[in-house]
Amino acid sequence: MIEVHNLVKTFNARGQLVRAVDNVGTSVAKGEVLVVLGPSGSGKSTFLRCLNGLEELDSGSVIIDGVDLADPKTDVNAYRREVGMVFQHFNLFPHMTVLENLCLAQKVVRKRGKAEREDKARALLAKVGIAQKANEYPSRLSGGQQQRVAIARALCMEPKVMLFDEPTSALDPEMVGEVLDVMKTLAQEGMTMVCVTHEMGFAREVADRVLFFDHGKLLEDAPPAQFFAQPQDPRAQSFLRQVL
Ligand code: ADP
Ligand code: MG
Repeated sequence: MIEVHNLVKTFNARGQLVRAVDNVGTSVAKGEVLVVLGPSGSGKSTFLRCLNGLEELDSGSVIIDGVDLADPKTDVNAYRREVGMVFQHFNLFPHMTVLENLCLAQKVVRKRGKAEREDKARALLAKVGIAQKANEYPSRLSGGQQQRVAIARALCMEPKVMLFDEPTSALDPEMVGEVLDVMKTLAQEGMTMVCVTHEMGFAREVADRVLFFDHGKLLEDAPPAQFFAQPQDPRAQSFLRQVL
């Protein structure tokens, strides 16, 4: 579903060249769940943003379901519709109800009629366990509920891939579980997922593979059992000592 070859993304930060993603290659099979780990500033978010066409690549390629993002003939906007993204901060539209949040892109991008988009929205709200909140405004929901709305909103577009960037990092601890449960259900249903998270339990239980980044480099790409028991790189070892 996803192929990444020799991906390089640099930033010019106050005159200093930062290799945020430094020659990374990997692939994700359809239905596979990857968890991306690494210290702050190691390039995890930039890597995800490259998968979503939100960053112009310096070099290398990202191919999703056969579409090469770097190909000038690729319509990046069309492609981005196939990839759902969920962020740490839920980015819901505050002046719209939950239902309106879920319907907007369906209307504008997918050109779905009112009945079709509302049916879709209600079905997905039920799926993430908040059907009764359809007519509330986001500010009236807890953080965990808002994040579940954000996931449902992404799913309305029927994405081929879901990307998660620290979806539980801004939540109070008692709400982390409800969001991870939704992600776990998606994984079990066969969604292809790339998740940046610090939730090691989720990584162990749900991931097919763990990627470990440091200074933009992909240092480990291994099944969780192997990664957690025998990390190969010293930096992965010291990272695990700090988080476990
Ligand atoms: P992570 O998500 O692992 O914390 P990021 O991908 O956000 O890491 O950042 C990787 C590196 O790239 C960091 O050194 C960060 O400062 C730098 N960086 C990220 N985005 C930008 C940007 N828009 N401009 C300049 N530097 C950036
Ligand atoms: Mg980040």
